[in-house]
Amino acid sequence: MCGIVAYLGEKEAQPLLLEGLRRLEYRGYDSSGMAVLNGTGLHLLKKVGRIQALSALAEQTPLHGNLGISHTRWATHGEPSDRNAHPHVDATGKLALVHNGVIENYNSLKKRLISEGHTFTSDTDTEVLAHLVGDHFVKLPAGTTSRLERAVIAALREVQGTYGIAVVHQDEPGILVGARRGSPLVLGIGTGEHFLASDVSAIVAYTQKVVYLNDYDVVTIDRNAFRVSSLTKRSAGFEISDIDFQQADAEKGDFPHYMLKEIFEQPQAIQNAIRGRLSHEEATAVLGGLNLSPQELRDVDRILITGCGTALHAGMVGEHLIESIAQIPVEVDFASEFRYRNCPLDRRTLVFVVSQSGETADTLGALREARRKGFRVLGICNNVGSTIARESDGGVYMHAGPEIGVAATKSFTSQVTIFALLALLFGRMRHLSASQGRQIIEDIEKLPAQIEKILGQTERIKTIAAKYCQAHSMLFFGRLLQYGIALEGALKLKEITYINASGYPAAELKHGIIALIDKNTPSIFICPQDSVHEKNMSTLQEIKARKGPVIALATEGDTTVESIADDVIWLPKASDYTLPVLSSIPLQLLSYYTATALNRDVDKPRNLAKSVTVE
Ligand code: GLU
Repeated sequence: MCGIVAYLGEKEAQPLLLEGLRRLEYRGYDSSGMAVLNGTGLHLLKKVGRIQALSALAEQTPLHGNLGISHTRWATHGEPSDRNAHPHVDATGKLALVHNGVIENYNSLKKRLISEGHTFTSDTDTEVLAHLVGDHFVKLPAGTTSRLERAVIAALREVQGTYGIAVVHQDEPGILVGARRGSPLVLGIGTGEHFLASDVSAIVAYTQKVVYLNDYDVVTIDRNAFRVSSLTKRSAGFEISDIDFQQADAEKGDFPHYMLKEIFEQPQAIQNAIRGRLSHEEATAVLGGLNLSPQELRDVDRILITGCGTALHAGMVGEHLIESIAQIPVEVDFASEFRYRNCPLDRRTLVFVVSQSGETADTLGALREARRKGFRVLGICNNVGSTIARESDGGVYMHAGPEIGVAATKSFTSQVTIFALLALLFGRMRHLSASQGRQIIEDIEKLPAQIEKILGQTERIKTIAAKYCQAHSMLFFGRLLQYGIALEGALKLKEITYINASGYPAAELKHGIIALIDKNTPSIFICPQDSVHEKNMSTLQEIKARKGPVIALATEGDTTVESIADDVIWLPKASDYTLPVLSSIPLQLLSYYTATALNRDVDKPRNLAKSVTVE
């Protein structure tokens, strides 16, 4: 959450910062600001609202200079307002700092600083950090190395919590200092210029060479060089990597929203998730990145999948896939719960952490807790080089391309597809025959074309969305593998339309939920021709008997469903194992068109932000 962009080079900083913020706006969008240094000192602009508001201000009163820091905020401490927007300055007004994360001991630090004469003008934890760094700066002697760097290091040694920061000081006009712990920060290396950013999409237009900073790294940058030091180790190593996508991949193109573009990218995203990973000859999946020998794979006798939000729902589908195809017991847990609940795990448990961004703070916490206990942890991430990818023992990249829309779409179907690959792999290590394995491969390979077919029903789905968009709440039903999809469908609807929605295993209807059924409460019922189709038909009748409107997701040609439901969206004939990928697509479109019918801000829904890097 929150986006940081900083620039040091020969060009004017302001346009680069604003453009970078625009690209990071999906990470937080309640207020923004920037500070630029030039010969006359430090100059700041801050504005509550979207980046557009800051751009308008910058047009009226442009800031000139070649060194600047900027921030788009997702408030944790203090309401969104001009006053609380970043950058924050120190007591001298010469130091400016932007911050992503939470300073947990800000209260005690603030009290101490107040007792030493500091006054604060915002409600944020960040302002305390700015004052703390500034305080060290004035107390430190000049030396051969950057005083700002030393002040940052001294201050961060006193800090508990998480941070990605960028700092500048008027008395060191050629220096930019960055540091991270728990929040992402990447250094971009250009020719005669450097960048800092929360994620590479802000800087991919200017450079392909980056250093993904590690926790406790402090980077000190001037125009031509940079140095990485560590808060904990004597020396910090770093690696220069290439960004694995082009700027065009992160553009909306002709689509009105990123979300719609990303929904339509799913045939390609699934192709990318399976490319080179299916062996017809051995009738299995080939996932080299797991870093597990065949013996180690065979020895796994329990799996824990953990993640948050959409990633957790993908894990729930993964649980069914792995248990039914590979017969390995699987447990799924919220990453935020797992990290604190100290659950007993068998020593031969393999842990999967799932996160599109690879930066989700709760999921990272779960990863670290599991590794601390000596478990092998594998990551399923989209962002190459992300913290989760780097700290896992191995894993599987989604290769879905940048996902900018705050509501996850293609990352979800990629995650589910990867779980199908894992189920196949584990199955083939055990009892699954080659012919069964080959059948699953054939089913998986059909997915991109089947998704195209579903996308062909977009107009029909749009009409259905318009019909039901005024509902105050909606219910989503699905069983077995489709239960996770029902939960994900309900989450998508809540996220971008603000309509109350919840997902249930269909048979639970009669155990309480049925009280909610009336003519104003639509039920979205996922009932393809799978192993529980007959059972679902009875539940469907129970809803209709109480006058509940039903939008059904049914297998092409299913006249039974067609005769009962009010509206039907067709799914191609497919195996139970690949159906969850297919059934999630109409639900994404349904939410999307409901949101646009209600004039919602689809790509930037209220209160949300992508990549939740705070606990
Ligand atoms: N905790 C800081 C604030 O509330 C930073 C939040 C963020 O990461 O955007 O201002």
